Amino acid sequence: MRFVDTHCHWNEEPLKAPLEEQRAAAAEAGVVRAVVVGFDLPSSRRALELARQPGVPEILAAVGLHPHDARTADEGFYEDLRALLADPRAAALGEIGLDYWYDNSPREVQREVFARQVALGVGVGKPLVLHLRDGKDPEADGVYGQAFRILEEGKAREVGGVFHCFGGNASQARAALDLGFHLSFAGPLTYPKNHALRDIARDCPLDRILTETDAPYLAPQGHRGKPNEPAWVVEVARTLAEVRGLSLEALTEAVWENAERLFCPGGPR
Ligand SMILES: [Zn+2]
Repeated sequence: MRFVDTHCHWNEEPLKAPLEEQRAAAAEAGVVRAVVVGFDLPSSRRALELARQPGVPEILAAVGLHPHDARTADEGFYEDLRALLADPRAAALGEIGLDYWYDNSPREVQREVFARQVALGVGVGKPLVLHLRDGKDPEADGVYGQAFRILEEGKAREVGGVFHCFGGNASQARAALDLGFHLSFAGPLTYPKNHALRDIARDCPLDRILTETDAPYLAPQGHRGKPNEPAWVVEVARTLAEVRGLSLEALTEAVWENAERLFCPGGPR
């Protein structure tokens, strides 16, 4: 079986466990590809550096600025990001989006920086890795509604992408799928109380579903409280296979093909 972790942070320093150990554990578990996702310029550069190192799992990079740090974006930032995006090892633009839970950057600034990064990604034809988190009052904050408007206006449909660690409701899932995006599931899918999330994962078209860890965050149920590792994406895949009534093999192969189509459109590199 070939598992894929479409979202992890092996670019976050300091790592909780040495990269070589984590990579060996992932390879041992059958993980053959990991997408290392940037959240600012240094972590994006680091993701590209890792993507140049041969080994198993193969590493792909995403480059972008997390909404937490949107306030740091100046004109120089966009120039630097454009240069990083031109690297053939940059498989995607991300993680970008809106986070009204922490509000680390003013919401208006988050929206502007999100829209500009969407435009950059669409301009170079690379898929988008989205981070969306509603505020304490989802009704009033409406992160998904605002994000969908920005994505529609930015013609994000042309490049598609993924709602990383999807945490919205069923109608938001529907809207994301209607926009041509994928839904990616992480450790929370395995938490006993998350029935509604498992229902969404069950109903998502098989050709739009992805698996991830968001390591070192969100360890799956059996490992909760520990720093997460890409090796444990297998637990997410296992839960997905279960809720969909598929064999682990069939689920894993479908996810592999989805990731391949989204992140490697030119075929094997
Ligand atoms: Zn992340």
